[in-house]
Amino acid sequence: MFNLILFGPPGSGKGTQSEKLISRYGLKHLSTGDLLRHEISHQTELGREAQNFMDKGQLVPDEVVIGMISSALDENPGAKGFLFDGFPRTQEQAIALDKLLKLKKAPIAVMLALDVSEEELIKRLLKRGETSGRSDDDNEQVIRARINEYRNKTAVVADHYKKFDKVVMVKGEGTIEEIFERLCNEIDKRDK
Ligand code: ADP
Repeated sequence: MFNLILFGPPGSGKGTQSEKLISRYGLKHLSTGDLLRHEISHQTELGREAQNFMDKGQLVPDEVVIGMISSALDENPGAKGFLFDGFPRTQEQAIALDKLLKLKKAPIAVMLALDVSEEELIKRLLKRGETSGRSDDDNEQVIRARINEYRNKTAVVADHYKKFDKVVMVKGEGTIEEIFERLCNEIDKRDK
């Protein structure tokens, strides 16, 4: 099993690159953002709870997303590996994920961290907001709140995996193809 975390701030291109990576490597894509939006569109209780946080640009409580990931792992027993996108986003989520994967004897192989300047992030998110229909993308205040949450709660997750020497920084600016090739190079060094 090959498990990888694609890491980076909102707007760093995790969703776009995840789609390309799962199709090249046959991994199962687990995006907590997508899972939460699915709950919202189906008007579940969990979706209603999550929406209050997401609309403000705040993180959804840990127990909610950890529960979702735990179920998703159980629902995909035969997966070749998982690509985690937008998870873990707090130290507590990282510890929970490590525990879940330990049970499967398949720890995180690598965290690929996309590096993009803040100016470029805001530009990309506002542009995405014009077409994505995502209410958290069309308001600069909400975008800035999401970037603050990233700085205050999520950036530490990279420090957690650095302790295990698992973090690789990848330049997240350039064309989609250029960034994809950089990511693939790093995976090919590790995926047997
Ligand atoms: P982006 O990274 O571009 O902001 P996502 O789709 O990953 O977009 O996340 C959208 C929102 O969903 C976040 O702002 C947050 O409110 C919520 N969310 C997603 N993943 C998590 C997570 N692992 N923990 C807490 N909240 C999350």
